[in-house]
Amino acid sequence: MSISETDKQYVANTYARFPLELVRGEGCRAYDAEGKSYIDMGSGIGVNAFGYADEVWQQAVAAQLGTLQHTSNLYYTEPCAQLAQLLCQRTGMKKVFFGNSGAEANECAIKVARKWAADNKGPEYNVIVTLENSFHGRTLTTLSATGQDHYHELFQPLTPGFAHVPANDADALRACLEANKVAGVLIETIQGEGGVLPMEPEYVKAVEALCREFDCLFMVDEVQTGNGRTGKLYSYMNFDVTPDVVSTAKGLGGGLPIGACLIGQRAETVLGFGDHGSTFGGNPVCCAGALSILSRIDDDLLTQVCQKAVYLRERFGGAPGIEGISGMGLMMGLKTTRPAGEVVAECMQEGVMCLTAKDKVRLLPPLTISQADLAEAADVILRVAAC
Ligand SMILES: *Cc1c(COP(=O)(O)O)cnc(C)c1O
Repeated sequence: MSISETDKQYVANTYARFPLELVRGEGCRAYDAEGKSYIDMGSGIGVNAFGYADEVWQQAVAAQLGTLQHTSNLYYTEPCAQLAQLLCQRTGMKKVFFGNSGAEANECAIKVARKWAADNKGPEYNVIVTLENSFHGRTLTTLSATGQDHYHELFQPLTPGFAHVPANDADALRACLEANKVAGVLIETIQGEGGVLPMEPEYVKAVEALCREFDCLFMVDEVQTGNGRTGKLYSYMNFDVTPDVVSTAKGLGGGLPIGACLIGQRAETVLGFGDHGSTFGGNPVCCAGALSILSRIDDDLLTQVCQKAVYLRERFGGAPGIEGISGMGLMMGLKTTRPAGEVVAECMQEGVMCLTAKDKVRLLPPLTISQADLAEAADVILRVAAC
């Protein structure tokens, strides 16, 4: 049996995979068994922030792998402590809980909000407000947080205590905060899976102000937007706001599974012994990989992300077959005249891997992609979109 046949027979059929078997990667290119190369404009959905087989990252991971691969959270390890310290130093947050995915980072954020509200306001303040068209993960509780009905249908009953309001509508949020006993508000600054839809800057400021007014936690889901993706270390930094809780994952580990929930001063002491846990959370190998990534997302790299974003916008702006561009930094959505799925499938045949998000072609290239690869990928996307 071929790899794809074996996969179809034995792996749960939850993914509509492309007819492509990848065997290795280097820099911003992945290769199939025949040696055909593909420029990766998706980074494994925003995960491979430094591309494939980055040498510095590999060395950090390999060194940790040969030293101590796992201990459980009964013991202290250096990579976990150092990563938490660096995350706090770079954000001003006070405490970090490590999990293994974006969904787990959001689960932690939701638990923090509920416990914070129970401690400070009373257990009846348990509602979490999220936005319509949001995406927060696939566990039952993060599905409940996700504001898209079609994800909910097959899995009733969901976790209670979630309310969804339309994005970019501060009046709707105010009405929701008046009508419910709310523990926290959780938003993406740019809805990723929802179609690369950025929030208006005034709205993000209004969400923060309303959370202060109604004394609930302001929480930002940076699973996709975080770790340099938008040209700032975390996307909230583009909006001049200070969240109480930030969740992140995808790009943080450079390809290894890690999620983090960053907790600010207001909720710093909420989690105590036994309140939350994860067997693999803070795994030293994943943390060593993440340290290698996070410590290199510096001002120089962030400037380059912004420059690459300007370049892509210049290439795509007003081009035939491109009707609109959305997003920030190297998180970009292209509204194409042709159906996005068709564009992505043809780009793949032409050696460029892209993603979709709703009706958009979504681009999340490695932050370190070279100018030459970026230009070549843009050529292909423009050619396919114009057909
Ligand atoms: C991908 C994503 C998640 C879920 O992350 P997983 O690692 O798949 O659990 C949550 N929130 C946002 C904004 C995401 O983009």
